Amino acid sequence: MAKKDYRIETLAIHAGQEIEPTTLARAVPVYRTTAYNFKNSEHGANLFALKELGNIYSRLMNPTNDVLEKRLAALDKGAAGLTLSSGTAAVYFTITNILKQGDEFVTASNLYGGTFTQFDAILPQQGITARFTPVNDFNAVEEAINKKTKAIFIETIGNPVLDVADIEGYAAIAKKHHLPLIVDSTFTPPTLLRPIEYGANIVIHSLSKWIGGHGTGIGGVVIDDGKFDWKDPKFELYNEPDRGYHGLRFAHDLGPLSPLAFILRLRTVGLRNQGPTLAPDAAWIFLQGVESLPLRAARHSENALKVAEYLKKHPKVAWVRYPTLAGDSSNTLAKKYLPNGSGGMVVFGLKAGSDAAIKFVDNIELFSLLANVGDAKSLIIHPASTTHSQLSEEAQKSSGLGAGLIRLSIGLEHVDDIIGALDDGLKAVK
Ligand SMILES: *Cc1c(COP(=O)(O)O)cnc(C)c1O
Repeated sequence: MAKKDYRIETLAIHAGQEIEPTTLARAVPVYRTTAYNFKNSEHGANLFALKELGNIYSRLMNPTNDVLEKRLAALDKGAAGLTLSSGTAAVYFTITNILKQGDEFVTASNLYGGTFTQFDAILPQQGITARFTPVNDFNAVEEAINKKTKAIFIETIGNPVLDVADIEGYAAIAKKHHLPLIVDSTFTPPTLLRPIEYGANIVIHSLSKWIGGHGTGIGGVVIDDGKFDWKDPKFELYNEPDRGYHGLRFAHDLGPLSPLAFILRLRTVGLRNQGPTLAPDAAWIFLQGVESLPLRAARHSENALKVAEYLKKHPKVAWVRYPTLAGDSSNTLAKKYLPNGSGGMVVFGLKAGSDAAIKFVDNIELFSLLANVGDAKSLIIHPASTTHSQLSEEAQKSSGLGAGLIRLSIGLEHVDDIIGALDDGLKAVK
């Protein structure tokens, strides 16, 4: 499998699985086990000392999760992956796998609501400071970087306004200052965009969205490009002896595994001692999603573009954002980074304003009114009163959030039915 240069549609179905030799099961089995037998005490000791890799306990590793991790790493062209209990945990444990008290990182401000709150309200309680900068404002990024800066964080397509990040621009600054570039690529699953190809070092996905694809589970993954050099002494967590791991220095003492220092630390410190593990049952659900991801990502994008084109022409619609839409302010970046489609998200506003937006959202047929994206079903929400309501007025503004913004996650229903529902809803707008 690994020897051939298979295309992404093939990898989505086969990468990471070796047929289990006892049962020869064709589908990936769900390994519902808490622990794994050691062959003898020496084998157990070698596993604990990281002298040999193998299964110990399912908080740290599980064969079902292992297939998903390898498959997603293959799709994103990374060196290794690690699944976690949610996308939110994937973000949090990535940051705290690099930064400690007193450290800072620079982030784009147009973030997923939960991530914004984590960076703005939770990390500061732990002495970690996020410096927010407007997306693609590289002067602001340069100005925000100082001696305490340890990482740069962006999302590929911002939330809720769909600005496309210029990943190569960020990667150039990250490289110049020797900082890892962390990219949350949830809105652009790997068949649409692979940030590592543009210089990202660490890629995060919420599996709960398009990768799972059916609104049936919560999970996250972190993918490591395996190329960042953690020996720079400013990354103390990699260069100082780790008390939790008998004095191991992750950047120095891993031998041939040292290119995977980041992801091994995430597993041995994050999962092992902090415990945000993905259940194997959930991993199995996500494996079903991955198999059809290339087809689904293409159809989500195709449907969303048609919806955006329909809305753009509608006399009651004030504005529409969709990166691939002709004339969109992200169109040039979308052409570069998203030639296979910009995914399923469309946002727009009504000329009649924000009260009309709430009424529209309450009355539309077919669309589900809920706080999620990336389902096979079409979804709708008014972020200012829900997902982004915790944000201060100032933060709402800096995230580009107008009070009247309506967010659509376009599903896999027939596009004429989706547009028909929007059309009926718009007819009712006064
Ligand atoms: C949903 C989402 C998350 C959080 O993922 P969960 O699995 O819901 O915890 C993070 N980032 C983005 C861009 C998301 O859409």
